[in-house]
Amino acid sequence: MATVVMKFGGTSVGDTDKIVNIAKRIKEKKNHGDNIVVVVSAMGKTTNNLIELSKEITDKPDKRDLDMLMATGEQISISLMSMALKQLGLDSISLTGIQAGIVTTNDHTRAKINNINPENIVNHLDEDKVVVIAGFQGGSDDGSITTLGRGGSDTSAVALAASLGGSCEIYTDVNGIYGVDPRIVPSAKKLDYISYDEMMELASRGARVMETRAVELGQKYNVEILVANSHNTEAGTIIKEMEDNMETRVITGVTTLKDCLMVSVRNLPFEASHVADLFNQLSVRKISIDMISQTAPHNNLVDVSFTTTKEYTEDIIDLLENLKQELGNIEFYLNPNLAKLSVVGIGMISQHGVASDIFELLSTNGIVYYQVTTSEISISYTIKEQDVAKATKILAEHFEL
Ligand code: ASP
Ligand code: MG
Repeated sequence: MATVVMKFGGTSVGDTDKIVNIAKRIKEKKNHGDNIVVVVSAMGKTTNNLIELSKEITDKPDKRDLDMLMATGEQISISLMSMALKQLGLDSISLTGIQAGIVTTNDHTRAKINNINPENIVNHLDEDKVVVIAGFQGGSDDGSITTLGRGGSDTSAVALAASLGGSCEIYTDVNGIYGVDPRIVPSAKKLDYISYDEMMELASRGARVMETRAVELGQKYNVEILVANSHNTEAGTIIKEMEDNMETRVITGVTTLKDCLMVSVRNLPFEASHVADLFNQLSVRKISIDMISQTAPHNNLVDVSFTTTKEYTEDIIDLLENLKQELGNIEFYLNPNLAKLSVVGIGMISQHGVASDIFELLSTNGIVYYQVTTSEISISYTIKEQDVAKATKILAEHFEL
């Protein structure tokens, strides 16, 4: 008998009516004869509310205590879901992460799953029960409750599917994965499938549908992941390993990340040590940077630019003011109203001319870009935030997304 892990996020279980509706959906699936494991997130904004509650007491809660608190959100969902299933005449059992055998590291609030001991789950499945498991949580070796980081119940679901040798279905409030944000391009087409690599690139560059870590895990254990709408029966999108026919599509998606900050440092003495020193100081301050470019030396001076996110603005100004004191005539400029536009497609590996097509499209449409970086399957540009919608529409039209 096949095992299916069905995961429902916070909005899908936002109130008891929704929980009852989801339970009906689970019953239909169960009637097909599969073993069903259900993973749920906390209802609606529960996790945020719990964190707010802790802030009424302290700004720096002990992380073990915070995990203990946050994990209660998912416990509400599993108990109510199990009740709803029983109301429909199904046999079910609700399990916390620890009861489900999810063993994690001890890093409270961002624990990693070390392994899953599925015996308990399997025993209940053998008794024909629907097993309802709390997402986002597990337990460390010393028996403490841990959580996996915000959005972590996707990871719980994929890890459970891997451990049970089953498939994974993630139900959310959209119909699947779109190559481009339907709020910007209303005619955007839903993808029938997408490769793990493309999904990871899209997710890490701004697409919000799925947690990157869960996709990575899916790839590692070769778990196919269906992303579908919990409110309707549209076919959804399957995330899986690339197959030959997937390459016929050159570009799979376009995504943008706002709040980029580009920093340009001019007249840095061209001795490698100064450039290295700059990046070293950035790393000491834990400022993560993204794109880097450097001009050829002129009069023994170079200009260096890099991008980061706006949250580091004050830190960067402080760092560069210090550097200016040290090195005299350097100048720096911060350009805050930028976005990173990324074009992703596995077809780029085998197709030539994609980059030049995009360069031309951007320039003929008057879209200025400041920096470019590439990976094997993506090209990213920093552009003005105000050009995001226009650039996205132009690319979507050109690549038929
Ligand atoms: N409830 C947790 C959160 O809000 C986990 C999840 O939703 O995946 O981050
Ligand atoms: Mg989520």
